[in-house]
Amino acid sequence: MATVKRLPSCIQIPLDEEELKDLVSKTKDWAIMHGVGIRSKTAFSEDSLNFAPFVLLPTTFPRKQFEKAVEIQTTLNELMHRVAHNREFLRETLRETIQVDEFTGNLYKIWETVLDEGVAQPLSLGLVRNDIMLDSLSSWKQVEFNTIAAGFGWLGPCSLAINRYVLEELGHFDKLHNLPENNALTGITLGLLDAWKIYGDPKSAVLFVVEDITYNICDQRFHEFELKRLNPRVKVIRKTLTEIHFEGALSSENELLVNGIVISVVYFRSAYTPDQIPTKKEWDARLLIERSLAIKCPSIQYHLAGTKKVQQALAKPGAIELFLSESKKIEAVREVFTGLYGLDFDEAGDQAVQMALDDPERYVLKPQREGGGNNVYGKEIRDTLLAMKDSRERTAWILMERIRPPISTGYIVRAGNTNPPPLVEMVSELGIFGVVIGDSQNISVNRQVGHMLRTKVATADEGGVAAGLGALDSPYLI
Ligand code: ADP
Ligand code: MG
Ligand code: MG
Repeated sequence: MATVKRLPSCIQIPLDEEELKDLVSKTKDWAIMHGVGIRSKTAFSEDSLNFAPFVLLPTTFPRKQFEKAVEIQTTLNELMHRVAHNREFLRETLRETIQVDEFTGNLYKIWETVLDEGVAQPLSLGLVRNDIMLDSLSSWKQVEFNTIAAGFGWLGPCSLAINRYVLEELGHFDKLHNLPENNALTGITLGLLDAWKIYGDPKSAVLFVVEDITYNICDQRFHEFELKRLNPRVKVIRKTLTEIHFEGALSSENELLVNGIVISVVYFRSAYTPDQIPTKKEWDARLLIERSLAIKCPSIQYHLAGTKKVQQALAKPGAIELFLSESKKIEAVREVFTGLYGLDFDEAGDQAVQMALDDPERYVLKPQREGGGNNVYGKEIRDTLLAMKDSRERTAWILMERIRPPISTGYIVRAGNTNPPPLVEMVSELGIFGVVIGDSQNISVNRQVGHMLRTKVATADEGGVAAGLGALDSPYLI
């Protein structure tokens, strides 16, 4: 085993126990009173909010690596936009996967249907997030690139606010300049507003496609409220796919109508897992949206471009060159990929299966899913692979080298936990947000708009905040 890499704490720890207790109580109140909220899964009610779990002190992050991640974002935006618009590449890459993975197959069918019929709206809106982990103190690797429902546009900036409040309470005013500004909410919302303006119908509404139950409500409503702050005249409608099935229609000009209101922009915060598109009704609603003139975030080809299979195909030699021409950009992107392997029935696929069987701890096994909790780790990789080694199912999975991020030490504050919280070892994942608007030929908007940091206990495989393992955090640049 390599020696464990460690990140220093931003201030001297442990904190005095009494001071810590008081600080935690105060900060919980601060969080609730400033919209750092999440709905309880165990006691769900529309009438109340819990504070979302957070890390008390910001986690140190090498400044150079942070800046590199920020800097490469517009290149990754460009790359993924071009991938989404390259029919041949998507078709070739997903050919096996769509035959065995029903969900991806159904998405793909929608794409083929609209291609056959003629695409009504050539523009796509991408509100994307590149997720990375440090793999040493001086480099990082991409975990994944999210093209659908990339959350934390609000929870990112508000984590900065919590951590700033805590440092101020502790009197560390001299440290505040190491917390980078974060305007992700405004940046993402401006992307929605740009799309609304491009559509050009002042009476039209922005449609948020939502889950049956939204736990992460603050990370959606704040987008809606920010949109209203920027332009109070923009209507926002929230609907599930089931509701859209009953209330949606296309006009004779292919405008999307929901209860008669024209929808100019569709922002998906759902429709990325099989249980969110459970029956034909919801699939029909997804197709109805794709057929329409509304600008989709994401359009169906953007959704497909964000699959793990596409990420793996992009890591193959020569793939990035299909989409980017500047050698500096190509080099920079290649550097951020860690080992990614397909599991097709060919020599490379067989080799990958063998590598994983020989040393499962070195890898993560991933299906074509989003939203956390779907990957396989450690010894279970062996069992899973042995079970599907000879079945076609394996082609719907990819194998990825496991990134081993440096460990930091700190306090995680979570509803229902003891106060004072224990000191724990943690690892973090940084996400950088991007906004892209364009069609198959041109990109008219390409911006980097902010970041989010999620931190989990070092022993956990995954770190979804909504899933109950991760906590909000913000980077403290060193
Ligand atoms: P999802 O789309 O479900 O979020 P991810 O690829 O982001 O899928 O995987 C979920 C989580 O699993 C990540 O947030 C990270 O904590 C962990 N993870 C994924 N890939 C790796 C990897 N290569 N090395 C280490 N951890 C990983
Ligand atoms: Mg994802
Ligand atoms: Mg993820």
